[in-house]
Amino acid sequence: MPTPRDFPYIWTTWLPRLLTGENSCEWAIWFKAHHQSWERVPSDFDQAKWMLDHTALLNERIANRTVGGHDVDIEAQNRFELHGKTAILAGRPDIIAHREDHAVIVDAKTGHDSPSHAVQVMIYLYAVPRSLERYRNAKLSGQVTYRDHTVRISAEAVDDKFIQNLGALIRRLSADKPARRVPSFAECRFCDISAAECPARVEDDYEPEDGTTEDF
Ligand code: SF4
Repeated sequence: MPTPRDFPYIWTTWLPRLLTGENSCEWAIWFKAHHQSWERVPSDFDQAKWMLDHTALLNERIANRTVGGHDVDIEAQNRFELHGKTAILAGRPDIIAHREDHAVIVDAKTGHDSPSHAVQVMIYLYAVPRSLERYRNAKLSGQVTYRDHTVRISAEAVDDKFIQNLGALIRRLSADKPARRVPSFAECRFCDISAAECPARVEDDYEPEDGTTEDF
């Protein structure tokens, strides 16, 4: 049985795909923001392999930063909670490498390049100086590091428009009124909320409806 939370709680990693439009079902995150201990769909994702690959990449990047003269904080050391009026935004950047008054927030990704990865780092660039006192006045920048390349993100990317969009999304996800539910096989197949909690869950793929035209 899902247990209602006392106050909406949102993990940073739940947000980027909604912000980029790669996912549309806001209800999934609304439900997670308001509940814990829900019945999860068993995943065929190979968690152990992902953890081994991710840790190996992380250790490489930590070694590079250390050689470069940075002090490096890792994962749990970077845990933050940013308390708003409607929700708590929580996260745990992989690496924050700092030297003098500069700090770089680095997220390591073992899979394919995706716009949502950069957006995840942009949310960290927004939340870290507002929640971790030691970075309040740091000159921040961000990076998504893949095996073979790095995407750099400047702090200026976190502009008023981005903050407005992020704030509006978090307010929708933390409202009492349920957010929009958008069932589709493309999203439901990767969603860990079972049909017991979400009766709209789409379990099977289906052929799109078709028509004919003389226009081309
Ligand atoms: S199962 Fe599908 S419709 Fe239900 S919350 Fe997940 S993505 Fe949305």
